[in-house]
Amino acid sequence: MRSNAPQRLFEGLPFDIHFEVVRHLDFMSALNMASTNRFFHRILNLPAILPNSELVEFIRERGMAGQNRAENLFACYQCYRLRPREKFSKKATADRLHHRHKLTEEGRRYCFDCSAKNRFYDHLRPISNGKLRYYFCHNCGQYRTRSGMCHGPRRGIDQGDGEMLAWCQPKPATPEGGLEMLPAHILKNIVSYLGYDDALHLAMVSHTLRDTVPPIKWVALHTRFRFLRDRWTADTVDVDIGAMKTFPCYMCCRIQPKDKFTPTQLRMAETYPQTSWKMRCQACVQRMYISERNLMRIEYNRRRMCEICKCLRRGRETCGGCLELYVKGAIDQRTMYPEGLGRKRDYGDHLNRLDGLFDGQDWVEA
Ligand SMILES: [Zn+2]
Ligand SMILES: [Zn+2]
Ligand SMILES: [Zn+2]
Ligand SMILES: [Zn+2]
Repeated sequence: MRSNAPQRLFEGLPFDIHFEVVRHLDFMSALNMASTNRFFHRILNLPAILPNSELVEFIRERGMAGQNRAENLFACYQCYRLRPREKFSKKATADRLHHRHKLTEEGRRYCFDCSAKNRFYDHLRPISNGKLRYYFCHNCGQYRTRSGMCHGPRRGIDQGDGEMLAWCQPKPATPEGGLEMLPAHILKNIVSYLGYDDALHLAMVSHTLRDTVPPIKWVALHTRFRFLRDRWTADTVDVDIGAMKTFPCYMCCRIQPKDKFTPTQLRMAETYPQTSWKMRCQACVQRMYISERNLMRIEYNRRRMCEICKCLRRGRETCGGCLELYVKGAIDQRTMYPEGLGRKRDYGDHLNRLDGLFDGQDWVEA
């Protein structure tokens, strides 16, 4: 195609000129340029071109942004990526959790992968990420738990004559591939189309997926709600509300024993069964009132019950349940947007494009 000839002209310039251009940009603009096409993505190595201070400033700003804090992402000042909390040692993330920001200010937080490459941790000294305790081996560069850790001194450094031999665990037979290699935002997109049980199963596939995929955040609200409601209804069919032993918590998406709920919550569920979607367990209630601007509380206050599809939706957002019904052809545009037609929305056009992606059968819920 000849239509992109001007773009080729710019690409055809010598690398020195690209280099000079990027050097005069701020990090965000340089990032945009590197993501223009495959060519620039390949030749522009931003950490090598831009001054270190620029990168540190950018990643620090992103790490402190409210959205990334809510997703529990932390900045790594070595690979300049935002990574989940489980990818850091407990010490490296403790400072932000306790509002001290010492490591953030000094730009000294490194993820497990970067620490391994640079051998930042001592040989076979335990390191915890808050969930599991790992032992890092300098010989093979792998993190292992206690049951499967390597043994012996460092080869060629601590090993003298007649000393014990170093012995490493074999590498796992199934290397990480496919899904694990995808960036988090693409995984998030995939998971948003899955059912809640499928997302839970996906998170059980490997350590990496368990650390990266939070089903409770990534699965659509109406899907989670429907899963929980149907599961609970099936469990408690033909049981009187007073005799029920379990109740669902729609905040943490779990069916919990009755004693995990406050008497107020139980009384409300009994008196007003139509608002039972407000049920929250005691732990969630406590977490919601821990501070003034709590994200969980904001989320709770935005929730509404959709009159059309009887699913949970968020105020001022298109109802996901209704959107599914609309794609299936069960409701028309007028039902879906009773107040929005005056503004001449053309969602129909967008939705028609989905038809080729899914054959109608797949959309019918079992
Ligand atoms: Zn890193
Ligand atoms: Zn080893
Ligand atoms: Zn809960
Ligand atoms: Zn709806």
